[in-house]
Amino acid sequence: MSTEQTQLSKTALKFFSLGGSNEVGRSCHILQYKGKTVMLDAGVHPAHQGLASLPFYDEFDLSKIDVLLISHFHLDHAASLPYVMQRTNFNGRVFMTHPTKAIYRWLLSDFVKVTSIGSGFSDKEENLYTDEDLAESFDRIETIDFHSTIDVNGIKFTAFHAGHVLGAAMFQIEIAGLKTLFTGDYSRETDRHLNSAEVPPSSSDILIVESTFGTATHEPRVNREKKLTQLIHSTVLRGGRVLLPVFALGRAQEIMLILDEFWSQHSEELGNGQVPIFYASNLARKCMSVFQTYVNMMNDDIRKKFRDSQSNPFIFKNISYLKHLDEFQDFGPSVMLASPGMLQNGLSRDLLEKWCPDEKNLVLITGYSVEGTMAKYIMLEPDVIPSINNPEVSIPRRCQIEEISFAAHVDFRENLDFIEKIGARNVILVHGESNPMGRLKSALLSNFSSLKGTEDEVHVFNPRNCVVVELEFKGVKVAKAIGNIVDEVTNALGIHNVPTNVGKVDMQEEEAGSHNDVKIKEIDDETVVSGILVSDEKNFDLNLVSLSDLRDYHMDLSTTVLRERQTVLIDCKKELIYWHLCQMFGDVEVIIDEDCITHTSEAPEKKASTGLEFEVKIMGDVKLNIIKNVATLEWSQGIMNDTVADSVMAILLSVDSSPASVKMSSHSCNHDHCEDPVEDNVEDQHDDTWKIRQVARLCTEQFGECFSYKLDEASPTGEIMGHINIGEMTASINLSQMRVAKCESNPLRGRIESILGIASDLVAPLC
Ligand SMILES: [Zn+2]
Ligand SMILES: [Zn+2]
Repeated sequence: MSTEQTQLSKTALKFFSLGGSNEVGRSCHILQYKGKTVMLDAGVHPAHQGLASLPFYDEFDLSKIDVLLISHFHLDHAASLPYVMQRTNFNGRVFMTHPTKAIYRWLLSDFVKVTSIGSGFSDKEENLYTDEDLAESFDRIETIDFHSTIDVNGIKFTAFHAGHVLGAAMFQIEIAGLKTLFTGDYSRETDRHLNSAEVPPSSSDILIVESTFGTATHEPRVNREKKLTQLIHSTVLRGGRVLLPVFALGRAQEIMLILDEFWSQHSEELGNGQVPIFYASNLARKCMSVFQTYVNMMNDDIRKKFRDSQSNPFIFKNISYLKHLDEFQDFGPSVMLASPGMLQNGLSRDLLEKWCPDEKNLVLITGYSVEGTMAKYIMLEPDVIPSINNPEVSIPRRCQIEEISFAAHVDFRENLDFIEKIGARNVILVHGESNPMGRLKSALLSNFSSLKGTEDEVHVFNPRNCVVVELEFKGVKVAKAIGNIVDEVTNALGIHNVPTNVGKVDMQEEEAGSHNDVKIKEIDDETVVSGILVSDEKNFDLNLVSLSDLRDYHMDLSTTVLRERQTVLIDCKKELIYWHLCQMFGDVEVIIDEDCITHTSEAPEKKASTGLEFEVKIMGDVKLNIIKNVATLEWSQGIMNDTVADSVMAILLSVDSSPASVKMSSHSCNHDHCEDPVEDNVEDQHDDTWKIRQVARLCTEQFGECFSYKLDEASPTGEIMGHINIGEMTASINLSQMRVAKCESNPLRGRIESILGIASDLVAPLC
């Protein structure tokens, strides 16, 4: 049971949220596949404070995370990042786009200030993190360019424009060929400064998509702009004040672009500057420079404006910046954009409390309001609101409350269109309150109902926080053909414009980085190419390369040489073995000879042998080492070496295999294991008998029980014949004449002849 579970979790992709599922706020999602872990976003919940605003970090071992990707700078996606990096055991790498990083810095330093004041914590310990934490973590954040792919140990991710706010990115994450697209917050509408979100060129298997607006549909943008300007216009004309609570950056700039243009066009009606517009934010000026820096990442309209006027389009003619309310003289009608956007505390809250008792005034909500915040509450048009500084005090609310959404999130139509374009079979909904999210799930399922039961069935998930979604995928492996093999395929298919990728391969890199026009989606069934499949298990890359290209594309490949080693116990002297080796191979290089056996002219049997080390190299690369009675043969695998090693092993075994060999090398032969025809029949042949016995002894020493000899009775001269029988090899030796009578194996014949040669020296008369 447990084994099955382990196996399942190994192949399945796991998704779960530590925050941001069935809620808007504290976005934080975990993706696990093939031993890799990716975290998406690290936000806070705007309706909560302190530790309660964090995602459920205690529910997961953050040290497992390889990569953390931050989609955009909004607090519900990025504000707990310094906490994760400085206050937990997280030690992964963190990536965000350049503009996100630039704005994040200012935004979070403001967030630290705002929370430490607004939360009423006097003790610094109670803060999620300090300015120092922020500064230290900031340097460790890495940046990613749009449309570039970064590979961290096999986790490949690419950033695409998400619209929404400056720098907002969607991430397509690829692990072992499986692709997941995380939208973050995204918009599909080209507004006054940003382009709409992109559809990544390559398909995704899993889509993690926001569902903020569920099944709601936005009014056309022109209508919303018109409504906005008219409401504001009529309020100031009746002498009222307009409060627009905005998040300091992103959508605030969009609203200002609309208002500035309207004010210029209606300058006379508005008394030529008699009705001021203010933008009250600590960060206003700092962030203007960031917006100017990244104008190139915005849409054509704003870039053209910038080019034509040669001035920062975010420095507005009709809008003044306010850092503190002390600088503000509240004498008559005015328009005030103030942060924070959800009226929890700070400038916007102070102004709300000041202006809400007057019915001439207007509070206009343009952003998305999270459950549990004042912005959400005030839309219920309550009669009184609590004062932030003195909760005992209730402030009457008589002002007008309106909501016109300029929150840059997709509506149902835009979301559905995008989901269809992505074509993922698994859709996971995040970033939405339960009800709209549930409605969206039903709407999507009914939209894709015709695919139900087919291979293309679309599964939609709306898990709660910390609930795991497990998705199983078939292990389809796709190799990328590179180098000469590509030419082979293109020649076969008659295509002249050479693509870098062939086959059913990942098109992402190609679209993003190369200039090739031709893409082959599928190889013709008839086209067969062969090459070497190189697999990088760590990074999940699989390449098909021709042998000649191997070194060019895989410099990192090392050559493996198989070393073989065999050890046998031997019972005979190493002198004897050395002697046989020299006879057989000639090319024997002595490496170690502690007993100096190779420098003696004494006959092998005569010298007393000790067990010291002896080592030789035979035919260049086969090494034989003997210590005491252990002989170790070692060589690199190859046809030549294997043959040499086999022969050496045959010598070791045959020298060793007979107990007789031990006896013969220590004392005179006492053949009790076999009949001794020499003893019986040639006893009186004096010298000849002695000579034959010596030769027979040598042969027995060499071939052990494989050797036998007897009188050839058929022979008229009564010759003594020796027989060797090693497996299938046989040989007959005429011992009387000291010659090989019959042998079909040349190596064996060589061995016997060399034994006979040495034997004849041994038995030669001494006189
Ligand atoms: Zn956002
Ligand atoms: Zn968000």
